[in-house]
Amino acid sequence: MSRRPDPRTYDLDRLRAEVLAEDGGEVHDSIPQLAEADSGFCALAIALPDGSVRSSAQADVRFSVQSAVKPFLFALALFDTDGEALDRIGIEPTGEAFDAIKLESGTGRPPNPMVNAGALLTAALVDGDDVAARDERILAGLSAFAGRALEVDEEVARDEHLLGDRNHALAHLMRAEGTLRVSADDAVAVYARACAVLVDAEALAVMGATLAFGGRNPVTGEQVVPADVARDVVSVMATCGVYDGSGRWMRAVGVPAKSSVSGAIVLSAPGRLGAAVVSPPLDGYGTSVRGHAASRRLSDDLGLHVFGDTGEPTGMPAPRD
Ligand code: GLN
Repeated sequence: MSRRPDPRTYDLDRLRAEVLAEDGGEVHDSIPQLAEADSGFCALAIALPDGSVRSSAQADVRFSVQSAVKPFLFALALFDTDGEALDRIGIEPTGEAFDAIKLESGTGRPPNPMVNAGALLTAALVDGDDVAARDERILAGLSAFAGRALEVDEEVARDEHLLGDRNHALAHLMRAEGTLRVSADDAVAVYARACAVLVDAEALAVMGATLAFGGRNPVTGEQVVPADVARDVVSVMATCGVYDGSGRWMRAVGVPAKSSVSGAIVLSAPGRLGAAVVSPPLDGYGTSVRGHAASRRLSDDLGLHVFGDTGEPTGMPAPRD
């Protein structure tokens, strides 16, 4: 008999207070807006199949979505290209950092859609004849995932575009390989704006839930992408979503997820719930330290590990981080 807490009454503020005690990690400093983030900021939210959204304190504080946008860009690219995106981008984990200047050997394709090279390409594959049209399509698509109108932080978008030297390098490399078919600067511009979309933990949890529930937003009831697209995206989140920390993440937390340099993590537990945890200090893999701790605890408490229920005593030693 399961004696698991009911997600509808689970105490997210208690979990928040517990993980706030973790004080390791460094705030990312690639752009001023991230460097100035409050290292004490911490918020959690979960979105459930019945459309209810539960959250902790600070779950309405906004932050730029950064790489947590990548699963949704992949979903939109798959949908808009009728699956052709799968021929244009690999789906294998890299074992390298998110911004590694490296493409798949032999093909010149980005290794997967969860690293920067792949997201630059998925953002370029979304419908639209020019930068403005693709921006608009992406913002509308992300808003449908979130179930509310989202907006871009223009300063973040500008600085991401201006200061994203490694992204410019990756875009030029993909141009040289013939795998990127829009201009390098246009590709970086669209990706930078996608990273600069403002969300809060509640919105991000609903986005994760939409993928977890076969592409159907549990709050609005809208089928945002078909179920097979959502399944493809969640599969790649499971293998590549936490970059070179993906194996460690899946063993310890066991929920497909995507990390980001703003300290946000979006989680999609298939058929169970979507969740978002956010706190800016990052570990060496670019994953929020408190976010990882909170995800691990949430997974254990609610029995979310996709390969088994890790919450009951098994006689086995607890997985180490
Ligand atoms: N905008 C960031 C970048 O491109 C996103 C990276 C991340 O969140 N890991 O470099």
